[in-house]
Amino acid sequence: MTHPSDEIVQAMRQPTDADCARIRQAYDVAERMHGGERRKSGEPYIVHPAAIAKTLATIGADTDTIVAGILHDTIEDTPYTAEEIERDFGSTVRFLVESVTKLSKLRYQGLERHVESLRRLLIATAADIRVIVIKLADRLHNMETLEFVEERKQLRIARETLEIYVPIAERLNMGFFKTQLQDLSFRIVDPTGYADAAAYLETRRSEMEANLNRARLELEEELLHHGIRAETEMRVKGLASFAQKLKRKRGRADAIYDVFAIRIIVESIDDCYRALGVIHALWRPIEGRIKDYIAYPKPNGYRSIHTTVTASNALPVELQIRTREMHEAASLGAVSHLAYKHGSVRWLRELGETLADLDPELIPQILKEDYLAERIFAFTPKDDAIDLPSGATPIDFAYALHSELGDRATHALVNGKLVPLDTPLKNGDRVEIKVRKDGKPNRKWLDSVRTASARKHIRSSLAANRARA
Ligand code: MN
Repeated sequence: MTHPSDEIVQAMRQPTDADCARIRQAYDVAERMHGGERRKSGEPYIVHPAAIAKTLATIGADTDTIVAGILHDTIEDTPYTAEEIERDFGSTVRFLVESVTKLSKLRYQGLERHVESLRRLLIATAADIRVIVIKLADRLHNMETLEFVEERKQLRIARETLEIYVPIAERLNMGFFKTQLQDLSFRIVDPTGYADAAAYLETRRSEMEANLNRARLELEEELLHHGIRAETEMRVKGLASFAQKLKRKRGRADAIYDVFAIRIIVESIDDCYRALGVIHALWRPIEGRIKDYIAYPKPNGYRSIHTTVTASNALPVELQIRTREMHEAASLGAVSHLAYKHGSVRWLRELGETLADLDPELIPQILKEDYLAERIFAFTPKDDAIDLPSGATPIDFAYALHSELGDRATHALVNGKLVPLDTPLKNGDRVEIKVRKDGKPNRKWLDSVRTASARKHIRSSLAANRARA
């Protein structure tokens, strides 16, 4: 017996009979409640929640999340109430639908004026990561069907996607959402840039693919010869990030090695390093292009080894070596099983706490400069990794460790070298803070720090010192 929800169920990992029944029930309720309502495309409304539910099923979300995805617009647009959701589907589904509903109430009018809904989004997400996962799936389908919305509105929605949802997906290491949302928005925000990048990629595609396929075959044989079981796949960079890189390299597309890359998926971390050895023995690596994100993961949790080699026909090829688990985590990030267990990611929790008692006027700035900025890791002398926004200084580092360490800092040793406290740190820097017992924060520090917490601590220390004086 077929049911319109079968497509969703088929996309799920290992649904039990009870899971299937809940999905069907939710589908029937949503279809009945949305009734004759139509999308701007003219399709029945149920197409939208069904698409979201399918996305959620595809990325391996749990049944509560998928059910909440199906019901996510019912409270706002239909007579179905939160109490009825709880009665029919339980309190978790109610919480998820209510959180998503609250977020959609406010209209986006540029980051600066969007503070309140943003604050709610992040606080709800901090309480349960699944809220943002549903929002991302919702946004993805809205972006995919944006052609049916008036042009003026298209631009507003695309900007919001770029300013808020893309950085959040990046921070959560959810490549699956990040690349798609970024490309769909880029096409609307910068149609010419999009067309240029797409055209360039098209002219090079067949040549690059042939080149990569040759390298792939050679590599698979060599790995097998060394007893390393590996799966390989080709990955083509998203158009938006390709265009950004093109701009950074001033149009020299030839300098972009990693538009096309080969991913090598092996069974263990041990095999990652063995594969790297086999590859470097086979082809000469290009200096400065080896990145070990297994020993030093990116702050969003991304792990892999990257290297660019000169393959047999003298063309550079980027290789990304990882285990199956790392591979899944790079696409689904915070939704993947491990992160799920923790309920919420640490930075999100911190962000939720910071936002809860913060002057709303400061929020857009703090989001842009701190939480949604590009991140780096700096290391303590004991090798603990400290997650900081890019451009952060030893002062930020010190306050991130302990407020007293920040207050008393006098200078810093970065990779063993003495530097002023306002020197911007780089990813992987090893930082040691030197202190004086009676050291005090300097007002000038406020000009160079990048983190909200350093700024807050400096201000309160300065105020306390003034009060004492
Ligand atoms: Mn929706």
